[in-house]
Amino acid sequence: MIQEQPVQQESESRSSRSHWLLELAGIGAFAVLAVLIGQQIYQGAAAFGYAWLLPAVAVAAYLAADLASGLVHFLADNFGSEETPILGPNFIGPFRDHHVDPAGITRNDFVDNNGNNCLASIPFMLLVWLFVPVAATAWGYLFGAFFLMVCLAVFLTNQFHKWAHMEAPPGWVRRLQSWGLVLSREHHDVHHESPYDTYYCITVGFWNPLLDRTRFFERAERLIRRTIPGTDPLLRSERDGSLNG
Ligand SMILES: [Zn+2]
Ligand SMILES: [Zn+2]
Repeated sequence: MIQEQPVQQESESRSSRSHWLLELAGIGAFAVLAVLIGQQIYQGAAAFGYAWLLPAVAVAAYLAADLASGLVHFLADNFGSEETPILGPNFIGPFRDHHVDPAGITRNDFVDNNGNNCLASIPFMLLVWLFVPVAATAWGYLFGAFFLMVCLAVFLTNQFHKWAHMEAPPGWVRRLQSWGLVLSREHHDVHHESPYDTYYCITVGFWNPLLDRTRFFERAERLIRRTIPGTDPLLRSERDGSLNG
């Protein structure tokens, strides 16, 4: 056992190093795909106009990303474990560790903090770039603009989340937080109270009060546990507050 520990630590650091490189590649691929889809949107705008609609599309996309952040965070906190193949160590694990060591996120570098969200977006971006007629049809152009703005907001989400955990974020960030334009520390603190079963949205938190009032996530968790065989029928919070259910 004494001899195995360094070997295990070495293999863990090698795997996190390889994941860091994967995240770096993910950020690069995300940027390339964003430019490619952006070019198609530019062509669509030249062909169809509707530029006056884009601010409303941006607001809708920002709120959609906030909702998506809540759904993904809810799934990662409540289902699977760090042993789940592929997703476990690199996606579910960080969400679970974050409850144990909330300040850990503030020590992440830019790649570690934002790479996973890029990796999660890439398959969807590829599909849109390849199969949606963004430059050729009006609906494709408006959908492409909405989709790219959702991706950009998803990209920013864990940066906003990190800022919400910083003791002293930059002054301009603090201002954005106090205006309610990005996730604030006070708002996100609600999620960090045991048993961590509400306020999952972490882009800006717009949906959190409504989802909390309607007990949306509690109902969703119960529904998933009832319908998917092999999941524990009790809610995670009903069991023992364990983070690894
Ligand atoms: Zn959480
Ligand atoms: Zn947090």
